[in-house]
Amino acid sequence: MDRTTGRRAVLKGASGLVGLAALQACAPGGRVAALPGPGVGGRAQARLVPLRITRDQLIDVKCCIRPLRAAGPNLAAETVGDTLVIHNYGHGGSGWSLSWGSAEIAVGKALTTLPAEIAVVGCGIIGLTTAVVAQRAGLKVTIYAREMIQRTRSFRASGSFTPGSRIALAEPAGPQFPAEWEAMARLSWKAFRTCLGLPGKPVDFGDHYALSDKPIEKRHWTPDPAITGNWRTTGLPQQNSEFAHLDERIKDIVPQGVDLGPDENPFALPYAQRTTQMYFNFPSYAKMLMDEFFGHGGRFVMRDFHSPAEFAQLPQKVVIHCTGYAARDLWQDQTIIPVRGQTGWLAPQTEANYAVRYKNVLLLSKADGVAVMNNNPDMGDMLGVGNSMELATIADIEAGLAIIAPALAPRAA
Ligand SMILES: Cc1cc2nc3c(=O)[nH]c(=O)nc-3n(C[C@H](O)[C@H](O)[C@H](O)COP(=O)(O)OP(=O)(O)OC[C@H]3O[C@@H](n4cnc5c(N)ncnc54)[C@H](O)[C@@H]3O)c2cc1C
Repeated sequence: MDRTTGRRAVLKGASGLVGLAALQACAPGGRVAALPGPGVGGRAQARLVPLRITRDQLIDVKCCIRPLRAAGPNLAAETVGDTLVIHNYGHGGSGWSLSWGSAEIAVGKALTTLPAEIAVVGCGIIGLTTAVVAQRAGLKVTIYAREMIQRTRSFRASGSFTPGSRIALAEPAGPQFPAEWEAMARLSWKAFRTCLGLPGKPVDFGDHYALSDKPIEKRHWTPDPAITGNWRTTGLPQQNSEFAHLDERIKDIVPQGVDLGPDENPFALPYAQRTTQMYFNFPSYAKMLMDEFFGHGGRFVMRDFHSPAEFAQLPQKVVIHCTGYAARDLWQDQTIIPVRGQTGWLAPQTEANYAVRYKNVLLLSKADGVAVMNNNPDMGDMLGVGNSMELATIADIEAGLAIIAPALAPRAA
C-alpha cells in the first residue's frame, strides 16, 4: 500500500464516522471541495475548517520593499553636530521578527549617555518598538515620523516570525553577525511570548502545512559556479548562497517541521509537513504598542526629514534613527538593497486558523485576513532583489490562488 492509498483507506473509514458531507467548502472556480480530511491520528484529530480561496474573497493587495542591508541592520552610533544618532534600520524581511531584540541593542546604546529624554525618528515596527523599549527603560520619548505605523511599509508585510529572512548577505555581514543576529532573535522571541493571549491576539500561533507532490526535502543553496558576479562586484546579490541563512541557530526554541504520516495528513496531496508558527496580527499589535506608548506619556510629531543635519535641530540630543528603506536616501546608505514583495489579502477566516504552502504559494490565515503570497519556487531569497517598484500586481495573486487550489481541492474517492 503506498502512502496515498494508505491515507485514503484510513480517511474512508473515518469519514463514515464523522460525515464528510458536512465538511465541505467552496474551492476556486466555484467547485465544492471536500474539507481537507477529518484528521485522525497524532495531533491531526482537530479538524481543519477549509479555507475559502475564491477570487471574491480578495479584499486587498499590498506591496512594499524589504530593506535588505548587505551587512545586516545598521545599529551603529555616530554624532551629527551635538547630537548622538543611533541607527536602527535595515532589517530586510525580518523587521517584525527582530524588532524587540534590535530595539534592546539600540536603546542600550542610548542609555550609555544617561539621557532623560530621547527622540525616535520613524514609526514603523522598528521605531515604535524602540520607543516602547526606551520608555520601559525609564526614558521620555518623542517619535518624529511622516507616518504612523498603520501607514508604513511595516503594515504591508505578511507577519510571521521569520527572523532569518533576507536579513543580510553572509560575506559583508562578517563572521560576528550570526551571534549578533541570534541574540536579537532570542530577545525578540522572549518578548513576543509576553504578548501571547492578550486581547485581540497581537501575537498568536498556528499550524503551518507545507504540502507537496513529492517528498519534502530541505533546500540548500549551494553556490552556482556559473554565476561569477556577486554583491561586491555588482552592488546586488546574484544568487541565494550569498544570503546569510541563520535559522538553524535558534531551532532549539522555534518549533521545527514534522513530516506527517499518511494517517495524519489531512490534505489531498501525498506529502505534508507541519510546523507550529508564530505570527502577528497587525491591527491589534499596532494598537497594543500605540496604547503603551501614549499611555506612558509618549509624544508623536508628524515630521518629514530631508537630511541628517535636521536630526541635530531636534531638542533631544539622543536620537534613534528608524526610517527603514528610506534611510537609503535620507542617510545616503547605498548598501540598502530593495527587495520587493507583495501580499494579497482574503477576508478573515478566523475559524480556519492555519497556513498552507504549496509550490511556494503561501496562505496564512490570521485575524486580520488570509495573506496570500505567490513566490517563485526557483528564486528563493532572490525574488524581488533590486526591485523598488511598490505598485501591486493583482494578477500575481490571482495566479497564486490558482496554483494553490489543488492543495485544497476535493480528495479523489
Ligand atoms: C511582502 C513582505 C512581507 C514581509 N513579511 C515579514 C514577516 O513575515 N516577518 C517579518 O519579520 N518581516 C516581514 N517583512 C519585513 C518587514 O516588513 C520590514 O523589515 C519592516 O517593516 C521594516 O520596518 P521599519 O520600521 O524599519 O520600516 P518602515 O515600516 O518603512 O517604517 C519607517 C518609518 O520611518 C518613517 N520615515 C521614513 N522616511 C522618513 C523621513 N524622511 N522623515 C520622517 N519619517 C520618515 C516612515 O514614515 C515610517 O514611520 C516583510 C516585508 C515584505 C515586503
